[in-house]
Amino acid sequence: MKKKYIYAAVLILIIVFPAVRFLSGNSVTERRSFKMDTDITITGSGRNMNKAADEIEALLDEIDVNLNSYSAEGELAELNEKKEGVLSGGAAEAVYIAEDVRKNSDGAFNIAVKPLIDVWGFGRGGDGRVPSQNEIDEALKVVAETKIKADGDKISVSGNGKIDLGAVAKGYASDKSREILKKNKVKYAVLNFGGNIVTYGKKPDGEDFVIGISDGEGGAYAAVRTAETCIVTSGGYERYFEYEGKKYHHLLNPHTGYPAENGLVSVTVISENGTLADALSTACYVSGLEKGMALAEKYKVCAVFLDEEKNVYTVGNPDISLESDEYILVKKERKAA
Ligand code: ADP
Ligand code: MG
Repeated sequence: MKKKYIYAAVLILIIVFPAVRFLSGNSVTERRSFKMDTDITITGSGRNMNKAADEIEALLDEIDVNLNSYSAEGELAELNEKKEGVLSGGAAEAVYIAEDVRKNSDGAFNIAVKPLIDVWGFGRGGDGRVPSQNEIDEALKVVAETKIKADGDKISVSGNGKIDLGAVAKGYASDKSREILKKNKVKYAVLNFGGNIVTYGKKPDGEDFVIGISDGEGGAYAAVRTAETCIVTSGGYERYFEYEGKKYHHLLNPHTGYPAENGLVSVTVISENGTLADALSTACYVSGLEKGMALAEKYKVCAVFLDEEKNVYTVGNPDISLESDEYILVKKERKAA
């Protein structure tokens, strides 16, 4: 009698265990959180998807300390304070990419922009304010004089200069997250870090993911069909304040000291390299349509520019549809917010 019982138990374990594994392999993990000062969505499937999502969340928390120039502690805060320091775990790569984009954008993109961000009050949790011309001039002088040197993981910054990695940190997080998805052999996943999208694998029906690009008004104006890639959008509508009837957004022109105003609503950059896509989306936005398109061309990435007249310009023939209502995630995310 006893023996029979044991057999039965073993049998149930064998049957149930693979069933549970099978089910969990097909169930979808969907997590929402607020990290790195933005809305985060992690969606995906695969046996280790929950583990991967845990690791991604821990990674974002770590990056939010180490690469956040407004954190009281962490590597970037220490670097800015001591004028030299280490960005570990490969994060220095984000500085190399940013410096390359600075050179190629004639300084329209510049991670030494922090003093300017600070006078505009666009730092962490800041509501934003219109600074005096004097404050802008002083900040502009510091930004223009700042030299950034990089040697392996070691980074140094000259004079009173300070580095802000806000324009590349989420892209860098995207690249590290893709490594986590790969390591955990996840089946498919779509990550959204506040407009930095990572697509990994294919939809359950075997088709590529289709990602909607926000029109800045709560809808989507286009859909991009993607293979595994990163899709990053920068727009003036993302973070701004209003003063005396005028909108001031957080993408600053390091030459004028004011928010870039060039008739663009947003720029979306599509590249396998998330850090580069993030840097370029900001760089192209600040550069404006003509110079921005040339910059995207130079880096051989796909890009989609939307202007205030709702004209759409593309670089590199992205697989985009202007009519499709097939899009997912970006719009879904904005609806829920
Ligand atoms: P978001 O982080 O809002 O998605 P971006 O990737 O475009 O958008 O990055 C915006 C951040 O980049 C700003 O909050 C600021 O920290 C920083 N920044 C603003 N202007 C510039 C610039 N011209 N060059 C480099 N970084 C910038
Ligand atoms: Mg960016």
